[in-house]
Amino acid sequence: MTLMEEASRGRVPREIEAVATREGIEPAKLARLVGAGRVVIPGNLRREGLEPAGIGEWLTTKVNVNVGTSQNLDSPENEVEKAMAAVEAGADAVMDLSTGRDLDLVRRKILDAVGVPLGTVPIYQAAVKKELTSQGMFNALEKHAKDGVDFVTVHVGVNKISLERLRQDPRVMGVVSRGGSLTMKYIAETGEENPYYAEYDYLLEMAREYELTLSLGDGLRPGCIQDASDRAKYMEFIMLGELVRRARAAGVQVMVEGPGHVPADEIETSVRAMKHLTDGAPLYLLGPLVTDIAPGYDHITAAMGGVIAGMAGADFLCATTPSEHLDLPTKEDVIEGTYVTRVAAHAADLTRPGVRDRARAWDLDMAKARAKLDWPGQFHAAINPARAKQIRHRRGVETDTCTMCSELCAIRLSKEAMERELENEKDRK
Ligand code: SF4
Repeated sequence: MTLMEEASRGRVPREIEAVATREGIEPAKLARLVGAGRVVIPGNLRREGLEPAGIGEWLTTKVNVNVGTSQNLDSPENEVEKAMAAVEAGADAVMDLSTGRDLDLVRRKILDAVGVPLGTVPIYQAAVKKELTSQGMFNALEKHAKDGVDFVTVHVGVNKISLERLRQDPRVMGVVSRGGSLTMKYIAETGEENPYYAEYDYLLEMAREYELTLSLGDGLRPGCIQDASDRAKYMEFIMLGELVRRARAAGVQVMVEGPGHVPADEIETSVRAMKHLTDGAPLYLLGPLVTDIAPGYDHITAAMGGVIAGMAGADFLCATTPSEHLDLPTKEDVIEGTYVTRVAAHAADLTRPGVRDRARAWDLDMAKARAKLDWPGQFHAAINPARAKQIRHRRGVETDTCTMCSELCAIRLSKEAMERELENEKDRK
């Protein structure tokens, strides 16, 4: 029996127990959510040393961080280091998107190095090995499953039906998903249907065997604001919803990936439509980036979109780094992107059912420390204490306020004024 099947029978396996404890949710309630497919807990049966994480309703918004070699920059060691740095910075999951030479080596090293769920995109391996065939794609998927990968992105929404829609309504940017474009290439070159879509039942059997969580990729995500919310994207949502239903019926945990570039006023509609069409499947968001014009700042454009999406019900944010659209991220970029995305996830959690009280308690800790000009308390409550400390001390000026207003510190002045008012009141009595 799969985790989802056990949960739907009211059992509380140890993964559910562990996540329930960490999230402060009733185990039986979490089991119901897992059984209904509203929460996923990715965890390959072969994975060792995994710290289970839950993604979905009533749980905190999670953050994934992408790492991986490219054909230009192919250092497995650097990518392992980035994965470890991301986890150190608080990433809840890591995806290895390697496309360099030895993909097996990178994947296995990352699996050994981190204890969070690891995701991959098996079609990359088929493409890199020049085996972009039905057999090659399933071989890659099985290899990743056997290695212990916890979740895989499969671009099942990119198929002859959705591509026909794309042909009828051309876009400015076309398809910007790497897996989506590889799938298009396969369809164009062979005239055959996307194998993961055509043989979805076989895919589900494999997922069952290894307890592999599926992440139904948004291969048709818009690559610019102009292309957002078009017919092809909505066609993909509808098909993914149907495929979610089939996965759940097979006892396979499944989440759905969401759009890339979307203007701020279309994000809520987009997220609610995806949630509705997928019967509340956990929603994994890439971005959404709220503008196209900020290369170098796309970790911020994505965080803006992430907050809006999180408020509308998105469950899992994929970190974007300052290198987005420009270069393979450095380790520093990965760390920056992780923290900025965690800030977005937390801002969404301040409004999220089931977790908002805990999230607000964290902010209250910071506010209380600020009100007392308690600097150690502020560092302790900061999402990145080291950065807060470094900025406070970088000029070597040590005061009990900070160098922004110095002697005119509003917090101190208003506190002193309030104390004087109280004294005056006592004297009047
Ligand atoms: S000096 Fe100004 S910025 Fe700094 S703690 Fe006081 S009020 Fe805040």
